Amino acid sequence: MSEGIKEHCGLFGVYGHKEAARLTYLGLYALQHRGEESAGIASFDGNSVYSHKGMGLVSDVFDEEKVSRLGGHVAIGHVRYSTTGSTTLKNAQPVLVDYSRGTVAIGHNGNLVNGAILRAELEARGAIFQTTLDSETIIHLLARPEHKNFEESLVFALKQIKGAFSLVIMKEDQLIGVRDPHGWRPLCLGRLGGAYILASETCALDLIEAEFVRELEPGEVLFINKKGPRSIKPFGESKRVAHCIFEQIYFARPDSYIFGESVHLVRQKLGHRLAQEHPVNADLVIPVPDSGTPAALGLSHESSIPLEMGIIRNHYIGRTFIQPLQHIRDFGVKVKLNPIRELLKGKRVIVVDDSIVRGTTSKARIKKLFQAGAKEIHMRISCPPIKYPCFYGIDFPTRKELIAANNSIEDIRKFLGVTTLGYLSVEGLLSCVSCPKNYCTACFTGDYPVPFGGEANKFATEYKGY
Ligand code: AMP
Repeated sequence: MSEGIKEHCGLFGVYGHKEAARLTYLGLYALQHRGEESAGIASFDGNSVYSHKGMGLVSDVFDEEKVSRLGGHVAIGHVRYSTTGSTTLKNAQPVLVDYSRGTVAIGHNGNLVNGAILRAELEARGAIFQTTLDSETIIHLLARPEHKNFEESLVFALKQIKGAFSLVIMKEDQLIGVRDPHGWRPLCLGRLGGAYILASETCALDLIEAEFVRELEPGEVLFINKKGPRSIKPFGESKRVAHCIFEQIYFARPDSYIFGESVHLVRQKLGHRLAQEHPVNADLVIPVPDSGTPAALGLSHESSIPLEMGIIRNHYIGRTFIQPLQHIRDFGVKVKLNPIRELLKGKRVIVVDDSIVRGTTSKARIKKLFQAGAKEIHMRISCPPIKYPCFYGIDFPTRKELIAANNSIEDIRKFLGVTTLGYLSVEGLLSCVSCPKNYCTACFTGDYPVPFGGEANKFATEYKGY
């Protein structure tokens, strides 16, 4: 299976700090929400390259001893999320290889729309792939012999790939950050004393007390070495900027600043707008924690209906909790969220969440809220109906499984069993960001900024046996 389609990831990099790997380890902690499935760090001390990666959370993969073995002043790190069954340690990143020009390590966030085609071409010329990752395709392109130096080969490789890619690359004594020309996924630059930091989100800079310098620009390749940073823009004339709007809605951490704005403030605005678009009389506003909390705050402020934390979330659910032997219905939902009966009993409740994808989790949650005594449930969603799959790195299922792709709002309302259902409009969503034309909204509108040949192509890619 082509893994790229299912990946969300977090990236971190350090140049010029004697504790580069330790800072990277901390940075990955702050980016854990971007990927819980595997974590890895590669570092360089001027002579040798070190690396460690493993399956699970950062805290599962690293301990004091493992971090202290990663010496050097340069490091990159990666956390990865994937829902595919074919997940293995082999696919943990950074991908690290020794080749004719030395050692290179790459971490990728996003999805290449032409990853499978490039891979097939490379395989036809005899390339042997060890992983199913897009990053490995980039490495094969880098290793082509016809280029004068590493920079030339990198520019060549970057010009071949299409789609969403934020990259951190460690080429021995050099840290490189790349953002694709559309700027789909975030990547920012920070400073910590004399050291330079790259991170997917600013919340990782905050943790290590690094100063935020700026976001990398779409299409920017930033080389950092002992002479300092140097930028090139190899992709030619500027392309349509297409930041992922879903980063603002759901994926990024609310305490981050991405695409020029505070994620929390954008989410609060979504809640204000939602209240204006779908007013209703109710006693309480309740967020689905944590994803619905900032929008619920905004909706509560706008409607003057009090906010209550009526659903409590258990934060300690690991990926591998042991299922009960006896069948407990909706166990997955119960173990994560529990409503407070005393707040809900007899109340007309507005429940706010950021999105509905398949609808199955929301349905189970709504059932629990009615069982806890809610009289009416008015569901409010701080994004428009998700009708189209994402080919640029957010894990949405196929159109068949996306509930809004195949059902009217009224059908969805009935399926969920709620009293009323209101989604934010596309215009409403875009009114909450400062530069609406710079966003990709393909999952709501089907307007894909980079073509990929339709959904059929996705499945051809996915089931090619990679
Ligand atoms: P469902 O009702 O089954 O569609 O699940 C909706 C819940 O999934 C919401 O609480 C969302 O915050 C959450 N969600 C949205 N997008 C994703 C995603 N790409 N991966 C995992 N969870 C998501």
